[in-house]
Amino acid sequence: MQQELEALLAVQLDDTEIHGLEERLSALLPRLKELDVKRTRIAAELERATTVVTAEEKKQAFLRDKIAEHKALIEHNQTAMDAVKTMRQATAAVAQMEEARKIVANEEAELVSVNRRLEEARASQHTHQGALDACTAEQSEARGVVAAEQAVIDGELAVARAKRAEKAVHVPVNLLGKYDKIRIRRKSQAAWAVQGLACSACNTAVPMQRRNQMSNHGGIDVCEACGVLMYFAE
Ligand SMILES: [Zn+2]
Repeated sequence: MQQELEALLAVQLDDTEIHGLEERLSALLPRLKELDVKRTRIAAELERATTVVTAEEKKQAFLRDKIAEHKALIEHNQTAMDAVKTMRQATAAVAQMEEARKIVANEEAELVSVNRRLEEARASQHTHQGALDACTAEQSEARGVVAAEQAVIDGELAVARAKRAEKAVHVPVNLLGKYDKIRIRRKSQAAWAVQGLACSACNTAVPMQRRNQMSNHGGIDVCEACGVLMYFAE
């Protein structure tokens, strides 16, 4: 019995170390998250600017097509003018051309403002791209530091887990299973010494008979109040 207890406590010692390493790993996450939040915000600004550029480019292409189309129409009417026979036909053709010229003039004015907006949008896109590049460069060192710390802790964790696995084979499967369940449920220490007359995890008194059982035989009991494993420390 005493051997089982010693084997279990050795495993628990390793678990404490593993738990500490895991906490150090989790402590790195907020640092990464902070970097991500900043970078995501800048990337979103760039995306918005890019959307504006794309929309203005579309409008520009559309207007250019329309202007070319209407100019071709004017040219076509010009040619048709030569073929008209009557004054009435000539008047109608001139009126049609005038109308088409007005449309083209409006479209060209609109194109000028689209070109201006596009220029502004591209400048903004360029600025945001610059900001994103600067952020990436600036964060690369910070991310490198975190990654290096992560690698060190991962290495230590692998060693600690291997050590734990070696020791765990000396604990009876049933007992180890019970211990693991309690440890995972409580997310902390699962085996506690009886201190004075009570369970040291919850301070509830342990009945005399069970206490004697543990102290005389090195047995492991379960605390009826908080559910941890109890043992008698010499
Ligand atoms: Zn207890």
